[in-house]
Amino acid sequence: LVQPLASAIGAITSVNQALGALGRIQEVLDLPLEEDDDRPGPTAGPTDAAAIEFRDVRFRYPDHVVKAREAAAKEARSVLAQAHLDRAADETTAEVSDDAHEVLRGVSFTVPRGSRVALVGPSGAGKSTVLSLIERFYDPTAGAILVDGVDARQLPREALRARFGYVEQDAPTLAGTIADNLRLASPDATDADCARVLRAVNLGDVLERSPLGVDAPVGEDGVMLSGGERQRLAIARALLAAPPVLLLDESTSSLDGVNEQRMREAIDAVATGRTLLVIAHRLSTVVDSDLIVVLEHGRVAGQGTHSELVASVPLYRELAKHQLLV
Ligand code: ATP
Repeated sequence: LVQPLASAIGAITSVNQALGALGRIQEVLDLPLEEDDDRPGPTAGPTDAAAIEFRDVRFRYPDHVVKAREAAAKEARSVLAQAHLDRAADETTAEVSDDAHEVLRGVSFTVPRGSRVALVGPSGAGKSTVLSLIERFYDPTAGAILVDGVDARQLPREALRARFGYVEQDAPTLAGTIADNLRLASPDATDADCARVLRAVNLGDVLERSPLGVDAPVGEDGVMLSGGERQRLAIARALLAAPPVLLLDESTSSLDGVNEQRMREAIDAVATGRTLLVIAHRLSTVVDSDLIVVLEHGRVAGQGTHSELVASVPLYRELAKHQLLV
């Protein structure tokens, strides 16, 4: 018994090391580039300008970011290989082997004010990169991004980010109460404000689960909530700041049938009265969007409504077929 047990413990330690290395990759990924190259210029555009416009945007991650990601991946790979987790090691290699290429290759699309726009496309197409550029974690290598008609490079990062509520994929949940999680960015929000945003994202029932209401604990990493509920809590947190534009990177995980339906209803509710740009992994959450932009290998493979894309863009038709929508 002793030998297998020792190997199992060894493997668990190695897996933990591997996860540590992967965590460091994530840190590198999350590292915002803050060199201050804001170019002061006009901060107000035409009143009828679109909320966001991409004009022939090209982008390549800076060399030092690519190198740091490669180094972290190498570390993760060797630890995973030692633990005989060869498949995971291969996946890590595959994920970063292609990083030095141009990630966006002439992307143009417009998000009119008050509209609901979705970005869809295969893994690695560049969807998350689009959101990082809007938030100015990086600037385009060529082309321009206009926010309310002004080149984003002319807007100070703080002012720019104040216009957007950004809900990242798998946003972290604090081990406090529901209210602690909601008040992270809006400390003055009242219990009534918290209850209002919870209802807006279809989380009203969590208030009834405990007599403590918004003061109910969510557990370590939010374990008392399902994955879908955690993402809706992150959306509620963003909503509290009442941003004119909500950028949402929909979670790929934990969306079973019930959660998917609730997410769809939540997105319908939060889209009312604001601009919404959502990265969707499930077409069912975006079929009603005003515009769907299909990205493939850093290019726009097509854009239009769901029915237009089903009729004219083979990649979209395949995605829709795969998800049983046509
Ligand atoms: P997914 O649906 O899997 O999240 P995606 O469409 O959002 O994919 P991105 O995450 O934007 O795609 O990645 C686009 C490309 O950029 C991929 O080839 C990826 O490996 C690369 N990439 C992403 N982040 C970085 C980074 N920080 N450094 C270098 N390359 C990166």
